[in-house]
Amino acid sequence: MASIYIHIPFCEHKCIYCDFYSVVPAETGTEGYSQRQQYISSLKAEIEILAENKSCNESIGTIFFGGGTPSLLHPSEIEQILDTLAAHFSIEAGAEITLEANPGTVDKNKLADFRTAGINRISIGIQSFHDDDLKFLTRIHSSSEAKKCVKDASEAGFENISFDLIFSLPGQTLSRWKSNLEQAVELQPAHISCYSLSVEPKTPLFYMIQSRQAAQVEMERDADLYEFTIDFLSSHGYEQYEVSNFARRDPASDFKCRHNLNYWNHSNYLGFGPSAHSFWINERWWNISNLSEYIKKINIRTLPVSEREKLTAAQLMEEAIFLGLRSEGIDLNGFRRKFSRDLSAENERVISELIKQDKIILVNGRMRLTAKGYVICDEICQKLH
Ligand code: SF4
Repeated sequence: MASIYIHIPFCEHKCIYCDFYSVVPAETGTEGYSQRQQYISSLKAEIEILAENKSCNESIGTIFFGGGTPSLLHPSEIEQILDTLAAHFSIEAGAEITLEANPGTVDKNKLADFRTAGINRISIGIQSFHDDDLKFLTRIHSSSEAKKCVKDASEAGFENISFDLIFSLPGQTLSRWKSNLEQAVELQPAHISCYSLSVEPKTPLFYMIQSRQAAQVEMERDADLYEFTIDFLSSHGYEQYEVSNFARRDPASDFKCRHNLNYWNHSNYLGFGPSAHSFWINERWWNISNLSEYIKKINIRTLPVSEREKLTAAQLMEEAIFLGLRSEGIDLNGFRRKFSRDLSAENERVISELIKQDKIILVNGRMRLTAKGYVICDEICQKLH
């Protein structure tokens, strides 16, 4: 089962911490708005060109609209993109189709129209339930708008609702972060993603930290907040299945994000739109991160690929360790069959030490991180080779 990612490179405003590729139409005036219309045509053309040039004989089990701010699009535009995908790929019945929504860009009717257009999972960028945090992050919505968005999404027919939250904001205390988690679980979303605020080079936040207008949270404090998150969510009915992701335990439904699990299982995926990445068998490629250049390339029926790389067996193996450990664990027999390497035998001493320290466990033939292990995931990856 393969996946498709669609990048929507528009935002109403650029948040201070963000380094995802997007443009702000208001800043580029009329040109920006006409670019948006051209973009939808180009995106559909990119899907056609790729499907004509590449034999993708796997069915598509998940589609993810990310960005940028996909919820800025009109539901009819989402429908057009889904129709184009359906015309060129075999989309599985019951495919998971996610749209990232910014609470400042949707209302109940629009959400209902997204649902009708085929979106069945909505990921809401809440980030914080404190208005001063949202102001600091320069989000375009308030906490009450975020809560209303959750209610609207539920009333619009979405059962599979995910929240994005950010911790380790400058000066954030444990009690303020706890209050965010409490408010999140009270709303009972199907899924919660919690990310530590990362300071990406060349973002306004980066310059604020450099000029001491804001102080970056220390590593120990960040680790404390993260450990607290794991304990809190696991004691409030959420199962951690990846470093940053938690799914509500529900006997009737599995709310883990199938799209992200596909990435972490090293499954094939195709990405469309500027800056989108693709991975197919042993090859990875990514599109140019420039909307005008992207449109120009598509106008001459050329795939807007920036670079390609063929992954060696050693690179694939390293990625399989990293991706497996950060999510649902490494299937040791599958790993042996794929890479002709016995990971557990070759790392016996390291593994038994990590088991003693309660950082990894071996369960049903899988080597998985424990809550303590997730905290030092990168360190553990480096120890295993
Ligand atoms: S809305 Fe999302 S994608 Fe857009 S600038 Fe803010 S964080 Fe980045």
